[in-house]
Amino acid sequence: MIDAHIHADTRPYEDFEKMAIAGINKTITCAHDPLPMKVSAVTLEHIQRLLEVDAQRAKENGIKLYVAAGIHPRSIPRDYNKVIKDLPQILEDKRVVAIGEIGIEEGTQLEIKVLKEQLQLADELKIPVIIHTPRKNKKKITRILLQILEDNIDTSKLLIDHVNTEIIKEVIDQESMLGLTIQPGKMTPFEAVMIMREYGVDKFILNSDMSSAPSDPLSVPKTVHKMCLEGFSDLEMLRVSSKNAEKFFKI
Ligand SMILES: [Zn+2]
Repeated sequence: MIDAHIHADTRPYEDFEKMAIAGINKTITCAHDPLPMKVSAVTLEHIQRLLEVDAQRAKENGIKLYVAAGIHPRSIPRDYNKVIKDLPQILEDKRVVAIGEIGIEEGTQLEIKVLKEQLQLADELKIPVIIHTPRKNKKKITRILLQILEDNIDTSKLLIDHVNTEIIKEVIDQESMLGLTIQPGKMTPFEAVMIMREYGVDKFILNSDMSSAPSDPLSVPKTVHKMCLEGFSDLEMLRVSSKNAEKFFKI
């Protein structure tokens, strides 16, 4: 199984063991905002840590850790252009499989500018992108976001993440893949199952988004278990917990 969106740097060693025992063998850790990223050096060190320290911690538990690198909208360094300048070189590492997570949080001009630059780079390099949708004002911000995406990138290269019942109708007809984040306070395994029952499994990729916020490293296996109890086929379970992510990220 694949947990397609985690924040490995915020989690204890033991979580990787739990994930592995439950059947997760690959995961993608996304760049985010563990510190106030005031300058580019902090963001770049953060990405480096994911590739060195966290990849090793996962490996020791039998999990292959991939990385999504980029500038999270909640932590834009004042010299962010230095990160964008370094991204093509960072993306040469085969373990870096996407730009992410990127997006908009409040919709400020700076957030939009930084997002557009990263989308244009991804479009040029033909690399997948993990798009963050916020908790607050989710519908309003997602509508603004979708227009920016449409204008700046081939949308089949996008995984629009943290999709829930509030925004599913806005995004279901997009060419993009859709991430279901199963997390305490965000979405239960049962709610994810209900969404997949209504819309099928072709577009969805499961993840825990485990971070320093309330999280469950077993979100993906628990959701697959729930799918099994609700009568989904082996192939359907395999697609959302593995095949769709393997194809999208080429991992
Ligand atoms: Zn995240």
